[in-house]
Amino acid sequence: AVIEGLNDPTLFTEHAFIGGEWADAASGKTIAVTNPANGETIGNVPDCGAEETKDAIATAKTAFAEWRHRPAGERAAILRDWFTLIMDNKADLGRIMTMEQGKPLAEAEGEIAYAASFISWYAEEARRIYGHEVPSPTRDRRILVRKEPLGVCAAITPWNFPAAMITRKAAPALAAGCTMVVKPSELTPFTALAIAKLAERAGVPKGVLSVITGDAKAIGGEMTSSDTVRMLSFTGSTKVGALLMEQCAGTVKKLGLELGGNAPFLVFDDADLDTAVDGIMASKFRNAGQTCVCANRIFVQSGIHDALVEKLGQKVRALKVGDGLTDGVTTGPLIDDRAQEKVSAHIDDAKSKGASIVAQADAPEGYTAPTVMTGAKPGMRLMDEETFGPLAAIVKFESEEEAIAMANDTPFGLASYFYTTDISRAWRVSEALESGMVGLNTGAISMAEAPFGGVKQSGLGREGGSEGMEEFLEMKTLHWAGI
Ligand code: ADP
Repeated sequence: AVIEGLNDPTLFTEHAFIGGEWADAASGKTIAVTNPANGETIGNVPDCGAEETKDAIATAKTAFAEWRHRPAGERAAILRDWFTLIMDNKADLGRIMTMEQGKPLAEAEGEIAYAASFISWYAEEARRIYGHEVPSPTRDRRILVRKEPLGVCAAITPWNFPAAMITRKAAPALAAGCTMVVKPSELTPFTALAIAKLAERAGVPKGVLSVITGDAKAIGGEMTSSDTVRMLSFTGSTKVGALLMEQCAGTVKKLGLELGGNAPFLVFDDADLDTAVDGIMASKFRNAGQTCVCANRIFVQSGIHDALVEKLGQKVRALKVGDGLTDGVTTGPLIDDRAQEKVSAHIDDAKSKGASIVAQADAPEGYTAPTVMTGAKPGMRLMDEETFGPLAAIVKFESEEEAIAMANDTPFGLASYFYTTDISRAWRVSEALESGMVGLNTGAISMAEAPFGGVKQSGLGREGGSEGMEEFLEMKTLHWAGI
């Protein structure tokens, strides 16, 4: 198959990247990848399983022996070249992403730049892996703490950010001196493979990075049971994350888990209305609401409630829904039918329990219309579960205590947001919210420089920031005696 309109058609590949080779599945079987905007098949990727995963892990082990000992500056230079190649090919990568994932082209290109930012940031960070000396309790001993790369790491990534969820793991891993085998989502493998192609061109040595497509259970099973793999970094649902955690227990792997959220978004009476509405638009409707940090429950204080609903309604009605490749489209299709059905089910359930639709954008047949509902209450599905779609559910509240209690009434704790101009409240609420990240007067909380991750059932560990590289490093304590 070919994708029309690429400047460099070779970036579109239907082979997996295993140990530096562009390979097919041993069985010869493939999986079709479809465009969510029209259901057409874009191409096919190898349906790999345990055997190919074993090969990828074996070459990652061999490659690690050499990669770990390269001076950090050399690893950094390769990462820097990878970054440059990704930025140079942003238009093609964005196009491939829009075709398999659905997000509007401008947003897809935005994700490519965001994905690349992790590579440049960790290229810089590679040279700052410092150890330290511990003052000794005795005269004849010296104690040093070194940081060493973990070894072979595995990554399993989702479809909502087909590029960034890979670079956010691979960049710190490679910078730290680890090697990595990545299994992208079966729904969005082409972006991952294109990025791997650029890694190869940048000089990432054979086996340092593999991208293996195919059967999630078989590949995941091999990754989690392997003695060689020292760490699994996963982004996806809490259900699969918990399952993988269990599977990793047998070999006591280190885990990085970025799981579901159910982000609360609080707007207090003293908030700036326009900023709050912009924040909701950014946090709720980006990627058609399909992000783990999307505002899922919007709590609005009674004094500002009606004005906010009015303004938000205007903005939502103005959204343009359609194929992400079409100029001016702000909201693409949802990833699949199941995703669409979930949004409809949440709307129906909320309606039956007393909520109502107050604004909706126009949407062509087969697309989900961005929607605003008021009168949402605990006990509705859209409050208890992540809708993962363009549905803004507004809950009216009276007091700060009440809002915080509702916001924290969830087993998840990834992101939360709140809008206020009162400095005492800003501090109080920042402390009270149970989540790994809190945005005050902003709906944007992910960037390469800052640690990203959740508490409670939203996950373990952090990605981004210097903390994101620590995940791929292990301490070794050296005790030198007889000195
Ligand atoms: P989402 O709901 O976002 O699709 P999933 O957790 O189902 O989240 O998927 C995230 C990633 O996990 C994807 O790459 C998917 O293929 C993979 N995955 C799903 N089930 C399993 C499994 N049993 N073992 C390993 N990987 C899995």
